[in-house]
Amino acid sequence: MPPLALALAVLIGGSMTNEAPEAAPATATTAADETAMRFAVADMRLEAEALILEQGILSWKNRVYGDEIDITRTYEGHETLFGRDAIRTVEAAIAAAPDAREQKALRYFRRYLLAESIGKAVAPLDDRIANGEAAAEISFDGRTAPYRQSFLLLAREEDYDLRKRISDAQLPVLRRFNPVRAEKEERARALARGLGFASYNALGEELRSFDLERLARDCERLLASTEAAYAALLREVVPEFMGLPVGRFRRCDVFRLFHLDRYAACFPPERLGPAVAATLRGLGIDLAAQANIWIHDLPLPKKNPRAACYALKVPGHVRLTVKPTGGAGDWETFLHEMGHAQHFAWTENDIFEFRQLGDNTVTETYAFLFEDLMDDPSWVREHAGIPPEETGSYLRFRRFSKMYMARRYAAKLLYERRLHAGADDPRDLYRRTLSRAYGFPLDEEDAERYLSDVDDFYYVADYLRAWFLKAQLERSLVARFGAAWYRNPKAGAFLRSLWRHGQELNGDELARLIGDERLDPGTFIGILAGAEGGRD
Ligand SMILES: [Zn+2]
Repeated sequence: MPPLALALAVLIGGSMTNEAPEAAPATATTAADETAMRFAVADMRLEAEALILEQGILSWKNRVYGDEIDITRTYEGHETLFGRDAIRTVEAAIAAAPDAREQKALRYFRRYLLAESIGKAVAPLDDRIANGEAAAEISFDGRTAPYRQSFLLLAREEDYDLRKRISDAQLPVLRRFNPVRAEKEERARALARGLGFASYNALGEELRSFDLERLARDCERLLASTEAAYAALLREVVPEFMGLPVGRFRRCDVFRLFHLDRYAACFPPERLGPAVAATLRGLGIDLAAQANIWIHDLPLPKKNPRAACYALKVPGHVRLTVKPTGGAGDWETFLHEMGHAQHFAWTENDIFEFRQLGDNTVTETYAFLFEDLMDDPSWVREHAGIPPEETGSYLRFRRFSKMYMARRYAAKLLYERRLHAGADDPRDLYRRTLSRAYGFPLDEEDAERYLSDVDDFYYVADYLRAWFLKAQLERSLVARFGAAWYRNPKAGAFLRSLWRHGQELNGDELARLIGDERLDPGTFIGILAGAEGGRD
């Protein structure tokens, strides 16, 4: 799930690999024009920074207190900021930029304006879906439950048939909002063309600064290279952890499988905070002394149980919300969000765009670096209570879940590419593409998730590239500081030297900074497929 620091969830940036058509900018001809343009752009940046903060706080209140969210209203009064003229003014400023750094920052800003001009237009649809789902209920076996809690119900439900009934009870809610999501998809496509892009996909490439065709090839390669290893692990893990023959395993059982009851006691909620603080201490970071990181851990009734990081003001005010319920999933998510929080808290960048905008691949890379400590036998031995005789099956399960997620996201990218290009039968395409990745069939009911399982403008691409880059970064950390790099303050200093760039570096630039040629899927795919050494 994308990090929910709203400010970042919609903001994009990155390198100039595949520049989409910039309209011929209105060039500033006189010194007076230059001055006027400089002030206009500065006004827009200040306005955007204030709006990002306002939207971030609204999203925080919705997530932590369950307050109704009205993002649509936040755009009122900002019509000019997201209008065509504003984009053209920024394009003119890009052409006139005094140096490459300023030009890069303005290109980030232009992407923000492009994305937000669409975000603003579809906000009423997004609000309708968000508030509708927050208020929706499902009913099964004479009971009702909040729709948003139904995923937790699936994770906790031991009864095989009841899981199917709970999953099917979600269908009326999905079917109610699918037309709203379809309308949003249509509108976003039309708006992308209205902004001068050939298609939604072309705008998506620009906003996330990636090459869709190249990443699609990487995804095909990932699926093909891990097919056999994944199928073998699926045949082992499902009977071992679910007590089910693999032939009876369904999509609605996945939440239960990943709930991992077996190890719940090994990851108690009360040990999560101390384990994370101790890990940071090993890197020479004293979490208690980080006044700019605010952790909200009160178990409020309406709080979304999933931890999230909100970079409201980078680096000065970074928030984490957590509702410890214990279990591997809980620890994993909090470690992930702490990776984001450390990145933003150590950012030292004088340019707004390089603090709050930018390529999410980089911040996700840092988040996955911390999240994947859960795969490290030595870290797990130190912090979690996994009995030594269980470590083998725990690590096998971790490898399975990593492969499942990587294959799922590879399939999502291949599906979304065709969905946004106007596939004839997206439901059936979704069902076939995702079931290939999962290694078990999806039914008609599962296919109803063909729109709710899509993130705006290829967030999936940032996740995939972050997994690729995290494998490269981790290999570099191990080569420089040893297998237990997380116990080495020098590794902490090295990470801080990367984090201080904030969002200025894109994925390829970070790869070069750690000594590689570019962001490359090879290391990650190699480790997944078992070709490259995992951890010992
Ligand atoms: Zn994240």
